[in-house]
Amino acid sequence: MPSPEETKLVLDTSALFSLQDLPPEAEVYTTSGVLEELAKYGDRRAQLWGDLLKVSEPTVSSLKKVKEGASRTGDSTRLSPTDAELLALAMDLEATLLTDDYSLQNLATYLGILFRPVGLKGIKDLRKWRWRCIGCGKVFDKELPDCPICGSKLRSTLSREH
Ligand SMILES: [Zn+2]
Repeated sequence: MPSPEETKLVLDTSALFSLQDLPPEAEVYTTSGVLEELAKYGDRRAQLWGDLLKVSEPTVSSLKKVKEGASRTGDSTRLSPTDAELLALAMDLEATLLTDDYSLQNLATYLGILFRPVGLKGIKDLRKWRWRCIGCGKVFDKELPDCPICGSKLRSTLSREH
């Protein structure tokens, strides 16, 4: 039985790949961007589930909120247009987002959007992307081409918000 807040679900590409069947007793939404990704991978689920899957697009105002949120949490560079649309759609519909993508889960937490992982264990609390220098170990809040101190490459890392 889905909990009351899960009568509406928004599924991302990872969720559609992981599921064997669509959750029963729920309205299941996705965006046309996700269907395009599935088609690109030659996946036939979208066709099989055709009528059960509602395809919808988010409002411009929600999309704007998502993009603003992404620039605050540091998820901007990772957020594809499709990802942003899914978050915005979940916001519009007050739906639960089904996703295994940490970046999407992170932003959903920040934006107050309900989410649930499909396969992997979801993150419990808000984390922020940071970039750690592989040379001197200094941590930066934003992505840089290389370390301003020693010139080594930076590696992205998710760290807990303090
Ligand atoms: Zn360095």
